[in-house]
Amino acid sequence: MSKTPAFSIKDNIITIPNYPKEGIMFRDVSSLLENPRGLRETTSIFAQKLKVIKFDKIAGIEARGFVFGAALSDRLNKSFIPIRKKGKLPRKRISQDYELEYGVDTLEVHESSVANGDKVVLVDDLIATGGTASASVKLITSLGGEIVASLFVIGLPELGGVDSLESQKITVITLCEFDGK
Ligand code: AMP
Repeated sequence: MSKTPAFSIKDNIITIPNYPKEGIMFRDVSSLLENPRGLRETTSIFAQKLKVIKFDKIAGIEARGFVFGAALSDRLNKSFIPIRKKGKLPRKRISQDYELEYGVDTLEVHESSVANGDKVVLVDDLIATGGTASASVKLITSLGGEIVASLFVIGLPELGGVDSLESQKITVITLCEFDGK
C-alpha cells in the first residue's frame, strides 16, 4: 500500500525578497494554504503539540491567525476568539496599542470573549519582533485570561519576538524558522 508522502511546512512557504519594502524577506504563508494539504497538515501538527497543554479557548490574530486558529478550534472543539484591528468589532471591547516600525497600531478583543481564569492559546502565522503577539497577550490577560501557549507557523528568531514572549513565561511553538528579517 502506498504511504502518503511526508509534508514539509517550510518547503511550502514562498519567500518574496524586498516586500513590502527594501530589506524585508516576506514569508508568505498563503503559498502553504495553496497546497491542498497545507492547512490540514499544519492544523494536525498544532493539535499534536497542544495534546500536553490544558486550555479552554483559541485566540487568532487578524488576519492570517484567523485561518489557522479557526481551523484548530474546529478540530479541537474549542471556542475561537478573534483579535481584530481597531474598529472592526461590534460589541463592547477593549483596545491595546502596539508599536510598528513607523507609528502605532491597535488591536481589540470583545470583553465577553474571555472569562476570568480562561486558559487561552494564541495563534498567528508568524512571529517577528513579537509586538503583535505581546499586544494580544495584554488584551487577553487584562480580561483575566491566561495565555498557556502561543503558536506560530513561522518564527523569525533573530527579530527577538520568541525571546520576548518566553521572557514573559509564555510557551512559544513555531513549526519552522527562517534566518534574518
Ligand atoms: P511582529 O509584531 O513584528 O512579531 O510581526 C508579526 C506580524 O507581522 C504577523 O502578523 C505577520 O503576519 C507580519 N510579519 C512580520 N514580518 C513578516 C515577514 N517577514 N513576512 C511575513 N509576514 C510578516
